[in-house]
Amino acid sequence: MSTIAHNLQAVTQAIVAATAEAQRSPGSTRLLAVSKTFGADAVLEAVAAGQHAFGENYLQEGVDKIRAVREALPAQQLEWHFIGPIQSNKTRPIAEHFDWVHTVEREKIAVRLSEQRPDGLAPLNICLQVNISGEASKSGVAPGEVLALARKVATLPKLQLRGLMAIPEPTDEESGQRAAFRRMRELFDSLRAEGLELDTLSMGMSADMRAAILEGATIVRVGSAIFGARSYNKG
Ligand SMILES: *Cc1c(COP(=O)(O)O)cnc(C)c1O
Repeated sequence: MSTIAHNLQAVTQAIVAATAEAQRSPGSTRLLAVSKTFGADAVLEAVAAGQHAFGENYLQEGVDKIRAVREALPAQQLEWHFIGPIQSNKTRPIAEHFDWVHTVEREKIAVRLSEQRPDGLAPLNICLQVNISGEASKSGVAPGEVLALARKVATLPKLQLRGLMAIPEPTDEESGQRAAFRRMRELFDSLRAEGLELDTLSMGMSADMRAAILEGATIVRVGSAIFGARSYNKG
């Protein structure tokens, strides 16, 4: 078995175990394999091992990879998620090539993505990024502003608002990890109570996915635990 296949199996087992421990239904946490900085060959290896959803942070790299993978596997249905910062003049390729965007934090970006989503494609699935730890340097909308943004995004015709995403301040302590994820869960529940039809909480990465699943993550975004350490980081 290849290293990537082996790692995918281990991560999948950890997801199954944490989902069961949380007494959540089997299959309620999906794995997004974050392939940023790794080549199309690594994605093809993961596809061969049964993985179908991939996350990319850097637009040009992501679009090139999507094209290369499609050329290698023209009949394969895959799901591509954009999870990096979005510049407002770079929304068109995101709207044209991706199925999901996890990092919407401004109405202006959402409006552009909706306007630029090609007619033949299904609506673009959207998560709003929340600055849940209140870090000055972090992207994301403040928790108190999420409801207003969600209401606006929910009206845009070519978008499907699915939920919330966060990257909490890193901490080694599981209790601290869980506290931030719990605040996300509460925010998510409060939006649903307001009538927004959300089904996605995108939270948890290689180092904190267990805590995220215990607090209700429905998508964990896992890179290094699958593909190995990144040799460079453009972020
Ligand atoms: C890189 C990245 C991940 C994956 O991080 P790992 O620690 O490698 O699992 C998840 N989400 C976002 C937004 C990222 O940029």
